[in-house]
Amino acid sequence: MAYKISDSCVACGTCISECPVEAISAGDIYVIDADKCIECGTCAGVCPSEAIQPE
Ligand code: SF4
Repeated sequence: MAYKISDSCVACGTCISECPVEAISAGDIYVIDADKCIECGTCAGVCPSEAIQPE
């Protein structure tokens, strides 16, 4: 299991610097690398679009 970013992402970039394991990549919408994610939930807490949820 890992956290996942949904289509609600507006690519604001808020989450990317918060991830302690650098699991988030930029793009049209941002993407979390499930192999790197340690499920800390930090990104979900800072996302202004509530686009990040546990999968
Ligand atoms: Fe990174 Fe934590 Fe979000 Fe996983 S849950 S992508 S480790 S900030």
